[in-house]
Amino acid sequence: MSIISKNIQKAIALLTNEQLVAIPTETVYGLAGNIYSEKAIKSIFSTKKRPFFNPLIVHIHSVNSLVDIVTDIPEKAKLLANAFWPGSMTLVLKKNNTIPDIITAGKDTVAVRVPNHPLTLKLLKQLPFPLAAPSANPFGSISPTKPTHVESYFKNDIQMVLDGGSCKNGIESTIIGFENNEPIIYRLGALDLEDIEAVVGKISIKNKEEISPDAPGMLARHYAPTTRTFLVDDVSSEVKNHQGKKIGILVFKKSLNNETITEIILSEKGSLKEAASKLYDSLHELDHQKLDVIITEKFPNNGLGTSINDRLQRATFSL
Ligand code: AMP
Ligand code: MG
Repeated sequence: MSIISKNIQKAIALLTNEQLVAIPTETVYGLAGNIYSEKAIKSIFSTKKRPFFNPLIVHIHSVNSLVDIVTDIPEKAKLLANAFWPGSMTLVLKKNNTIPDIITAGKDTVAVRVPNHPLTLKLLKQLPFPLAAPSANPFGSISPTKPTHVESYFKNDIQMVLDGGSCKNGIESTIIGFENNEPIIYRLGALDLEDIEAVVGKISIKNKEEISPDAPGMLARHYAPTTRTFLVDDVSSEVKNHQGKKIGILVFKKSLNNETITEIILSEKGSLKEAASKLYDSLHELDHQKLDVIITEKFPNNGLGTSINDRLQRATFSL
């Protein structure tokens, strides 16, 4: 029997009983548990095979409940929260002492966000506790953007995926931390940099090349298909290097017009937002086609294109 269900009361019962439920958000599906239940949180880590040094994002239902989670809220954090919540931005702030160490990997900061999905907001409003919810995929593999992705990863491990359809943004939240009360981007994500800078001014980015990462979504290899996958500037010339192989290609807007290869075009009209929303689903689809190789195209390095390139770089071998 399928574990996919729209029954919110069932989700409430399971979560109250310290079980896990996969929940829809506008970014990707999350594997959720009660932040105050050690049992639930431990099973998030074991189900995902996620290392304990990798802290979790806490999900709350409104800006007002932020005070239950954190202590100091810098002025620019307030501006950002009011501008983007509910939405695809995670803030990393000083935690208060009710937040268990296992959530934050022992750090004195906690990552928190108000997701923008009607079903999950309804769920969070009815629960007397916030939810910790990392992406609902085994550690290192492609993030899930549809209930079926979660089901194929975890059908033997969890009892329920709350069905909220396909994720609208389809790429993880933008993570913003603070140093000396100034915001810093720890992970590029579903928000456009320009929109953030319109609220708080020029912002620095600490996204890449972290050896011991502050944000473990930053590990060099992450979000990866099991098929050998390459990221290149010129897909058609790379195709020539794999003659005789079963090839899948993932391109931004222009078809290669080669009938011998499997092709997914992310946005024929050239919309980066549409491309981001289809990115992981397309990687899942190509990964399931028993191909010898997947070749993906580098995106223009602006706006969401930068976030897409970040994820593709971690998912692939760059040439
Ligand atoms: P996921 O939900 O799987 O996309 O992963 C959550 C991301 O949030 C990871 O990259 C974490 O490292 C990051 N994160 C969570 N808590 C913190 C924190 N206290 N400081 C920095 N990054 C954090
Ligand atoms: Mg993840």
